[in-house]
Amino acid sequence: MDLNFSKFEAFPAEIKIRQENEEISGNNDLLDSINSAVVDLKIQQSEDEYFCQGKLTATAILCCARCLKKIEKVIESDIDFIVCSEIERQKTVSKAVDSEDYLFFDKSLTTVNISRLVSQTVLLSVSLKPLCKEDCKGFCSSCGTNLNEKSCSCNRKTVDSRWEGLNRLSGK
Ligand SMILES: [Zn+2]
Ligand SMILES: [Zn+2]
Repeated sequence: MDLNFSKFEAFPAEIKIRQENEEISGNNDLLDSINSAVVDLKIQQSEDEYFCQGKLTATAILCCARCLKKIEKVIESDIDFIVCSEIERQKTVSKAVDSEDYLFFDKSLTTVNISRLVSQTVLLSVSLKPLCKEDCKGFCSSCGTNLNEKSCSCNRKTVDSRWEGLNRLSGK
């Protein structure tokens, strides 16, 4: 996804950027990819820096934390970042509170790619353990069977350690 600064004649400006013909890969165990994304931005300019603030709506393909099944989820999140030219980089990074909010571009180019930032933003708003369903049974830790599809004959009674204390209390 590219943010093209040559489109703007004056600031503040508003722009809606859509993901087109490009799959954003998640590069993460939880986030497989982003199917579609729309970023609605308000952009303010201050000297060589562009302050971009807005909303991101994305359809993310997540992986169930237990059975790895792919789950489609619509994510809505705020997205804020600052764009400045590569030349300003040295100055900016040293004074930046959080340099991760910065994107840089070469002054001879007028576009900056925001795909990575979009996937990071999606990742931050995704739960750490996405599940395909609340009671997903996951894989058997002994034989690897997907327990949502079939059961196996392994004895897994002691697998869930959260219940051990309770069982002790109740004298089981
Ligand atoms: Zn699952
Ligand atoms: Zn098993």
